[in-house]
Amino acid sequence: MTFTTRFAPSPTGPLHLGHAYSALLAYDMAQARAGRFLLRIEDTDTSRARPEWETQIYDDLSWLGIRWEAPVLRQSQHLQRYNDALMQLAARGLIYPCSCKRRDIRAALAAPQEGVAQSGPYPGTCRARAMSSRIPGDALRLNMGRALMALTALPSFTEDGPSHAGHHTLDPDRIQNDIGDAVLGRKEIETVSYVMAAVIDDARQNITHVVRGQDLYQTTFLQILLQALLALPTPIYHHHALIRDEAGKRLAKRDDARAIAKYRADGASPGDIRRLVGL
Ligand code: GLU
Repeated sequence: MTFTTRFAPSPTGPLHLGHAYSALLAYDMAQARAGRFLLRIEDTDTSRARPEWETQIYDDLSWLGIRWEAPVLRQSQHLQRYNDALMQLAARGLIYPCSCKRRDIRAALAAPQEGVAQSGPYPGTCRARAMSSRIPGDALRLNMGRALMALTALPSFTEDGPSHAGHHTLDPDRIQNDIGDAVLGRKEIETVSYVMAAVIDDARQNITHVVRGQDLYQTTFLQILLQALLALPTPIYHHHALIRDEAGKRLAKRDDARAIAKYRADGASPGDIRRLVGL
């Protein structure tokens, strides 16, 4: 199979040095293996995605010397596809609507309800609700206990990144405790979480290698579970180290000081960016 990777930014802020590292690393890997490099715009969060950030992404990446295949997949144009996958899980009783607000969840965790099993960070308050009770404003959660029972074998993946290299099998206790009943459908009807949309598109775009930051390492366990439930292939993963600022803090989109646009405005060259991120 042709080595195929992607860079999948969300257009919710400027690309910073960490994004440059991710994109350049994935691009270089594709070049070195005569493979394919795709760009995917993960703009399902309509409350935060902005067209001007998307334009800036194209501009910054081409300035860095990165070339990608056309057309670019923009997730906001495929909401139906993600929703269909969610409904496929719902038909198997693996999803339920949830109206809990963050503060309800905090309160329930502080005083667990009798008879409601604790499962990961979400205490399970809405777990017994039927899909038919969904009203606008409800999120959709994965029933992690049932999802694990629906598996015929424990999913696993190969990591070829520096810090977790090897083959990893999903640990059911850990995923219950660390992730639990994850939100897969957001409160806007027909909008899925990025975790779900990425799984669908990685399969659809025949991605063989996912190259991304170590901050998403735990997310991979949820994603391989979703791949197993939806009978989709699991790519190889490469989680790279995060670029940090001088104080050792990981860079965030809010941190405009590290925006590629800022370095460009200050006269840096693409080569300077490569050196700054250690490539
Ligand atoms: N859209 C995600 C982000 O910007 C990246 C997801 C991924 O690479 O799988 O953090």
